[in-house]
Amino acid sequence: MNTEVTDVVVVGAGLAGLVAASELIDAGRDVILLDQENEANLGGQAFWSFGGLFLIDTPEQRRMGISDSVELAQQDWLGTAGFDRPEDDWARKWAEAYVEFAAGEKREWLHELGMRWFPMVGWAERGGYGAVGHGNSVPRFHVTWGTGPGVVEPFVRKVRAAVERGQVRLRFRYRVTGLLTEGDAATGVHGDVLAPDDAARGVPSSRDVVDDFSVEARHVVVTSGGIGANHELVRKYWPASLGTPPQRMVTGVPAYVDGQLREQLAADGARLVNADRMWHYTEGLKNFDPIWPSHGIRILPGPSSLWFDGGGRRLPVPLFPGFDTLGTLRHLRQTGYDYSWFVLTQKVIEKEFALSGSEQNPDLTGKDVRLVLQRILPGAPGPVEAFKERGEDFVVADTLDELLAAMQALEGGESLDVDNMRREVLARDREMDNDFTKDLQVTALRGARNYRGDKLGRVATPHKFTDPAAGPLIGVRLHTLTRKSLGGLQTDLSGRVLRPDGSVFRGLYAAGEVAGFGGGGMHGYRSLEGTFLGGCIFSGRQAGRGAAFG
Ligand SMILES: Cc1cc2nc3c(=O)[nH]c(=O)nc-3n(C[C@H](O)[C@H](O)[C@H](O)COP(=O)(O)OP(=O)(O)OC[C@H]3O[C@@H](n4cnc5c(N)ncnc54)[C@H](O)[C@@H]3O)c2cc1C
Repeated sequence: MNTEVTDVVVVGAGLAGLVAASELIDAGRDVILLDQENEANLGGQAFWSFGGLFLIDTPEQRRMGISDSVELAQQDWLGTAGFDRPEDDWARKWAEAYVEFAAGEKREWLHELGMRWFPMVGWAERGGYGAVGHGNSVPRFHVTWGTGPGVVEPFVRKVRAAVERGQVRLRFRYRVTGLLTEGDAATGVHGDVLAPDDAARGVPSSRDVVDDFSVEARHVVVTSGGIGANHELVRKYWPASLGTPPQRMVTGVPAYVDGQLREQLAADGARLVNADRMWHYTEGLKNFDPIWPSHGIRILPGPSSLWFDGGGRRLPVPLFPGFDTLGTLRHLRQTGYDYSWFVLTQKVIEKEFALSGSEQNPDLTGKDVRLVLQRILPGAPGPVEAFKERGEDFVVADTLDELLAAMQALEGGESLDVDNMRREVLARDREMDNDFTKDLQVTALRGARNYRGDKLGRVATPHKFTDPAAGPLIGVRLHTLTRKSLGGLQTDLSGRVLRPDGSVFRGLYAAGEVAGFGGGGMHGYRSLEGTFLGGCIFSGRQAGRGAAFG
């Protein structure tokens, strides 16, 4: 048994853990930061992320002609979250505090830490239901220069400097299996020391146990992430409102996002709330070059592609690409098919397909201005083109009939009603000659192009899909991709974990995805996007400060 003592032990070296540790360092506390993975995985999921941050009323927005305010953002957040449960009390307080943070201190603080953002602000989750419904009324998705690694970097730097000074001890391959307790208070953690493993970042590692350990501490901060890689838990908690889970799903997070510690802490007296709230995507692709098991990549789609269910029926209004993630998932789960399908053109893919993830955006991740500028030139970005060429979910054809036949020949395509799909594509093309149009997706395209950012980099000039000059035609088979847990351990605004009766679980703090990004689910049912990294930063900061001074 390997035993150590410190002021505060932080469990999980992802973004939330790094931010909490940074706050503890600033407060002069000694810290042990543990992770079940090896050092190559420092930064957790955030390293893989696109680095999109939800920020309100920023210079980047103003330069793009976007007028935003904290009131508008609160309205959007509440319309999106749909808080409707008694246990949403803390989540609601977290949501309000977070929106204030995103409109205030957040940008300046991160800017001081060295972070910068791509000037074209993205418009995610556009909604489509009316002003008080789901969605962002304005573009707010700020992609960090350097993507996920750029978000993680300032906090890694701070932690590493503290390691040099002896203030922080890093312990990799330490898997926590439970709490040390005295009376009703947490006084540390215990668990397994896993065998050394030099697996590359994101690649699953061995679970062989070589020793056990314990760490005694005044406070424990748990930042162990969500459940996205654990399909058993995803299925267990799948919300009734979304029907049954798909039989086939791809996985949008590395295998260590296993949710096991969250479950253990809930069994040991921490209050787990809103476990049935999750954020999974409906635009998942199978990665042709996987890093983790059943590795899926999410397309961040612009609004032009025509979207069909597995039977070949067009998705209803307003379920256009990029409008309502969860509404689309709910609809698709009612269709009885696991897959859905995009039909688009080369012209659309070149402008409208972004792939989420740092490794899929080498230009932004590598801060390579020359490569970034190529985004506005003709041609799809290299990684997108690679998926088109090599991904098993893509088919490409010169004519609509050839395309539909090729889509039908893919697994899952046999149920497509291609006659209906042909009719839809041709009818939509006819609307291109119509300045009025009753097709709300066409209206949405024309509206989107009023925004300079969309016109320049995100929304293709409206065109007929059957125009050979816009071709070839492209069909894409889409999978459900598991990603985020919106519920989690309930915490107060200091990050203190609560017990089922609402009392404080003394000595225990939580932040990041394991805490539902604060309060056990500050997003409610849905997200406005870019809110997860920021949620880790904010809740990590609160829990770090709470544990430093609690
Ligand atoms: C490809 C991708 C793209 C994304 N893009 C965006 C984006 O653009 N914007 C946005 O806001 N969000 C994005 N996200 C989501 C965001 O990155 C995550 O929600 C966030 O990073 C979660 O951080 P965390 O610190 O809570 O957890 P994690 O990063 O999961 O870290 C948890 C750590 O705890 C460790 N751990 C778990 N259990 C134990 C245990 N028992 N003992 C010891 N250690 C343990 C794990 O090994 C892991 O290192 C993206 C995610 C992915 C995967």
